Amino acid sequence: MAPTPDSILYDSYGPHIDGEFVRSAGDDQFTTTDPATGEPITTLDAASADDVDQAVAVAREAAPEWRSTAPDERGRIATRIADTIRDNADDLAHLESYDQGKPLTQARSDVEGAARFFEYYAGAADKLEGNQVPTDEDSLIVTSREPYGVSGQIIPWNFPLNLTARGVAPAIVAGNTVVAKPAPTTPLSALHLAELCREAGLPDGVFNVVPGGSEPGAALSAHDDVDALTFTGSVATGQAVMESAAKTITPVTLELGGKNPAIVMPDADLDEAAFWIGTGIFTNAGQICSATDRALVHESVYDEVVDRLVARAESTELGPGVDDPDMGPLNHEAHYESVLEYIDAGRDSDATLAAGGEPLEGDGYFVEPTIFTDVDPQSRLAQEEIFGPVLTVIPFADREEAIEIANDVDFGLTGGVFSNDVKQALSMARRIEAGNVYVNEWFGGSVETPFGGVKASGIGREKGLEALDSYLQTRTITVNLDERE
Ligand code: NAD
Repeated sequence: MAPTPDSILYDSYGPHIDGEFVRSAGDDQFTTTDPATGEPITTLDAASADDVDQAVAVAREAAPEWRSTAPDERGRIATRIADTIRDNADDLAHLESYDQGKPLTQARSDVEGAARFFEYYAGAADKLEGNQVPTDEDSLIVTSREPYGVSGQIIPWNFPLNLTARGVAPAIVAGNTVVAKPAPTTPLSALHLAELCREAGLPDGVFNVVPGGSEPGAALSAHDDVDALTFTGSVATGQAVMESAAKTITPVTLELGGKNPAIVMPDADLDEAAFWIGTGIFTNAGQICSATDRALVHESVYDEVVDRLVARAESTELGPGVDDPDMGPLNHEAHYESVLEYIDAGRDSDATLAAGGEPLEGDGYFVEPTIFTDVDPQSRLAQEEIFGPVLTVIPFADREEAIEIANDVDFGLTGGVFSNDVKQALSMARRIEAGNVYVNEWFGGSVETPFGGVKASGIGREKGLEALDSYLQTRTITVNLDERE
């Protein structure tokens, strides 16, 4: 029988500190709702600033023993966490689908990705080597890679479990302890993950979770005893986190938004291009920082590509995530209102509404897959991150114009080129200002691939071996070997 909220949910939820759920020191509670119905799922104790203090103190206390645990043992524990996630995959995927709204197939893929993060970094645990620096024979210089200590992690609501695992796995494998704050509309999977980590043998205090909104988020990012911060979310909140971090000189990794260009050249395989652009904007109801927000299409193939994209939008089936449709609802009411407001702005502009544009009647936060064509590259629709199933299509006349439009935004997270001319595709890919560029596909790469932005899209890289750089700092030891007579 498929898991239901009743069969998955715990009796009560609050901060998960030192290996157990605790009541909050404050008296705030909040409710997480099913975005397909707007009905409450469960009520949680919100972590207060005092709870954050407590979680950070516990993480700090656990840090010396955890960093001195043999690396191969840390790796074995991470492997067991991956196995435990897989053993509970069905429950976790249903939980994520109820809480976030995403189709079950996508939730299952997120859960498998979460397991992969622990498995992948487990293999790196005993290979985090330093160097020996060549010098003259009278000295020895060696470097080692040391954990920072306590890692504070602030997580958004679009991939709640997957992004928690993306930060927690490399942090703990590198010997750090963690205090994570999930988003207030999707707190459940991170809390369940903390329980599963404990079940897999992660010592108490190594991974703590403080659910709630901006109060625990701000308390965590301003905390004196947090040694490194990982933030994924909007530019505005990222700036606030960075400002707090400046006061305590704490390093930050920021994964922020995107307004990503997908360029379709005249020689592209048009079916392939339309498939990937549709997938890139309608997956997870467009709530993906790396989505195909802007399709830049050469004028000679413009109508053909638009026809294909409109057909894709119109054939996309909407429904509650647990029924596994093509597309689920938006995650929460305020975001739903924000996406509808962008659609209104599009209607009021000179752009043409080519598909969708309406909320679905009835309960839940459903918005039709929407396409605006002939969008002015300088308009709000083409410049600001909508973070919903709203594609803007922009024509261009030649390669130079395509690159100019592609780069003329504040963001630089992902971008892509569709072309069967390998020289053209690669030379254009090199000119797109983005941390990740796809050629003839979208969402390329996986757990093993460094991911992050340039410009306003962020600082640092997550995923791949490069992510470990955010959780390790170099120590240099110099030794005098000069034997004076
Ligand atoms: P958000 O910035 O509103 O919230 C992100 C997190 O920050 C949440 O946990 C929130 O509770 C917390 N927060 C809120 N106020 C805070 C404060 N003052 N101090 C500290 N923490 C605070 O972002 P969101 O709306 O949850 O997520 C959507 C945004 O995230 C989009 O812009 C999207 O592009 C971006 N995002 C980026 C990536 C990436 O990898 N680059 C991934 C997912 C989402």
